Amino acid sequence: MFVHAHPDDETLITGGTIARCLREGAEVQVVTCTLGEEGEVIGDEYALLCSGEADQLGGYRILELTRALEALSAAAPGPTVRPTFLGGAGRFRDSGMADMPSSKNPRAFVNADIARVAATLSELICAFRPHVVVTYDPDGTYGHPDHIRVHAVTHAAIDHAAATEWDVPKLYWAVVGREFARTATEALRDIPAGWDDSPESGLGRYPDGAITTRIDVTCVLEEKRSAMRAHATQVSVSRDGQCYALSNSIVQPILAEEQFVLVRVSSQAAPAPPGGGGDETDLFAGL
Ligand SMILES: [Zn+2]
Repeated sequence: MFVHAHPDDETLITGGTIARCLREGAEVQVVTCTLGEEGEVIGDEYALLCSGEADQLGGYRILELTRALEALSAAAPGPTVRPTFLGGAGRFRDSGMADMPSSKNPRAFVNADIARVAATLSELICAFRPHVVVTYDPDGTYGHPDHIRVHAVTHAAIDHAAATEWDVPKLYWAVVGREFARTATEALRDIPAGWDDSPESGLGRYPDGAITTRIDVTCVLEEKRSAMRAHATQVSVSRDGQCYALSNSIVQPILAEEQFVLVRVSSQAAPAPPGGGGDETDLFAGL
């Protein structure tokens, strides 16, 4: 189970891992907490869907998420993954950044009671019974208030589920190593005109030495790129497929490795995953 804040996070942060899990026959549930109504739209075609205009972006992003999950499921032997929205589609609204009026909306995800939201997620956990749950680090992987809230809600839900029906064997934070991202960005060639090529990656902010788990997603990079293209209101993919940019036009590499920190192992899992010390290569190791 992957718990994410907005449509597109599942692909940008964990798309390769989702596709690999599916290709290898795992059942995957992607839980998305908001519709991403406050996202900034790239290009003119759908610009008037934004929250200050028609306010239809959230509904449109359900379609983008659906198509992205279809792309990530393309090589899977099992059924295509469908979106799961926490509390139902539209239950919680994208909070936007902390200083924006959207963060004051009573329906904003950050304004919902953590314990009640966690109980809702715990119901999904107890129904799906995942062996592995993936969420964000305490910084929300890149600092967005909804991501920080997803971290808190997921940890509370894991505790709630463990006390009732299902003790999740392994919990991970999805992260991007700072030096790893910087090196990959500096290695990019043929960056599209107009994109900002400063090597400060938006996602790469985690201390590389604290990463426990590295998933090689080389074999599913095409699925990941297709899923990124499905989020066209949010993501531009370069023609050569080596990099992408959000509406801020800052270039980011499409990474062939996704990184995680193993933060919790229940008694259901083996005492220590093989390798340990930063070289675990399988989220299901030890299970
Ligand atoms: Zn997000």
